[in-house]
Amino acid sequence: MKSRRRILIVVGLLALTSVLARPLIHLLNTAVRDVDELTELPPGYVDDASRLNQTKVADIWTIPVDSDDPERQIAQLLSRARLERRRVTIAGARHSMGGHTIYPGGIVIDTLPFNQMELDEHLGILTVQSGAIWKDVLAFLDRRGWSVEVMQSNNSFSVGGSISVNCHGWQYDRPPIASTVESFRLMKADGAIVRCGRTENTELFSLALGGYGLFGIILDVQLRVMANERYRLEQFVVPAAWALATFDERVRDRPDLRMVYARMNVAAETFLENVIINAFFLDPDGEIPPLSDAAMDSLRRAVFRGSAESEYGKVFRWNAETNLQPMLAGKIFSRNQLMNEGVEVFQNRSADSTDILHEYFVPRHHAVSFVAAMRKIIPRHEGNLLNVTIRAVNEDTDTFLRYADGPLVAYVMLFVQERNKNGERRMQAMTQELIDAALEHEGRYYLPYRLHATREQFTAAYPQSKAFFERKLQYDPDELFQNQFYIKYGPSPR
Ligand SMILES: Cc1cc2nc3c(=O)[nH]c(=O)nc-3n(C[C@H](O)[C@H](O)[C@H](O)COP(=O)(O)OP(=O)(O)OC[C@H]3O[C@@H](n4cnc5c(N)ncnc54)[C@H](O)[C@@H]3O)c2cc1C
Repeated sequence: MKSRRRILIVVGLLALTSVLARPLIHLLNTAVRDVDELTELPPGYVDDASRLNQTKVADIWTIPVDSDDPERQIAQLLSRARLERRRVTIAGARHSMGGHTIYPGGIVIDTLPFNQMELDEHLGILTVQSGAIWKDVLAFLDRRGWSVEVMQSNNSFSVGGSISVNCHGWQYDRPPIASTVESFRLMKADGAIVRCGRTENTELFSLALGGYGLFGIILDVQLRVMANERYRLEQFVVPAAWALATFDERVRDRPDLRMVYARMNVAAETFLENVIINAFFLDPDGEIPPLSDAAMDSLRRAVFRGSAESEYGKVFRWNAETNLQPMLAGKIFSRNQLMNEGVEVFQNRSADSTDILHEYFVPRHHAVSFVAAMRKIIPRHEGNLLNVTIRAVNEDTDTFLRYADGPLVAYVMLFVQERNKNGERRMQAMTQELIDAALEHEGRYYLPYRLHATREQFTAAYPQSKAFFERKLQYDPDELFQNQFYIKYGPSPR
């Protein structure tokens, strides 16, 4: 009897080992090879999250928050720049990827220390300086029982950078962030400060929101905020062809739906064929869990980075998410917790490659056909796609250079690319084809990423850009505020 039990135990252990061995070896291998090869920039140089934009600048000027009057000092800096005939760029967390915070030989204003905030609980308005990053905003609001209405899916970005690209997230039934901005104070090129809002300086309000720092320095912002809430997760893993129907039948019209996103399978054999829908419903009865740093960082990083390196890693990640995630079903989250993840956890730290984001928006009736186009274009260019999330964005009626001119479906894609000319050339060719596909589907692409779109594609996607740049010249005739985006698509291309 005893020896039979022993044999059974040994066989069981062997079976378990054979099931676990490959995933364990894969994860260990990824962890061992995941060496931090990020290096400091040489003095006088700046770059952005692409790690492809290293550029020499004249000065990196940090807002001196300890001085008596930082705003007067910013105005003095602008006069100095005018005298020296230098261009000025404004930088938050520099997670844009196309040199939107960079001008060669220019002066970069680092806004990050400019990060004070104050909450009016009576009005539900947060006044926050533009350099504050969401991680600090969420912590501040969480302590008071409040939360952010609309922001990105990560917490590493500055408020100024977020409203200057008019970001959006996966908060359900919401337009981009501009819809939550009541007003802001803007320092114009001449150093004068104006309040822009829904009843004063309304044109400048719509231009600077999503205006990529071209109209002045946003000093502080009045953001509408909401109560923090307790949510329950429900998940659905379905073939991509059924995703919209599943969403309509089981998610869309439920009044307690608060946040939702879907993720697609990126493994080669089943490329974009399956979708996992993650829907978060209000669950008001019970304690709201306290805010914490995201858990199991190392494991999540190994699963994610492992999927960048191998096909097995992509299959493993999808299986882990779809087989292990159901254990999370019914799990409770706070709204703040869902938005409290830093990009650093997943960041590419290799010297040879970098992660590049793309985002395309199409009307819902073109969603299926656009995915069919992605399914052809990406493998043709051997794009190493790490992640696709799908979100819904409502119409934006606030910004001038708007991407959401109606309700749209957004595809956010993260690719790995080599940090060399070949990698850049291949990424550009694929991006241009994806943009063409979005345009053919009455959609457009998002502007904070690489500047691979041709001028014609940019104009087709943003027909209002001509009027946008005309107004830029009215408000900033000396073109003091410039960046690589302006150099490429502005009124006088160089
Ligand atoms: C990993 C990752 C995930 C992302 N996820 C999302 C997402 O879910 N949704 C989404 O919409 N976007 C997303 N983005 C894009 C992101 O929202 C933008 O890149 C955003 O600009 C980042 O904020 P930042 O503080 O890094 O801005 P920066 O890159 O520092 O600046 C962006 C632009 O804003 C201007 N700017 C910054 N501060 C000011 C100011 N105070 N006054 C005037 N102009 C200013 C800059 O000049 C620049 O043109 C993501 C980006 C990355 C890298």
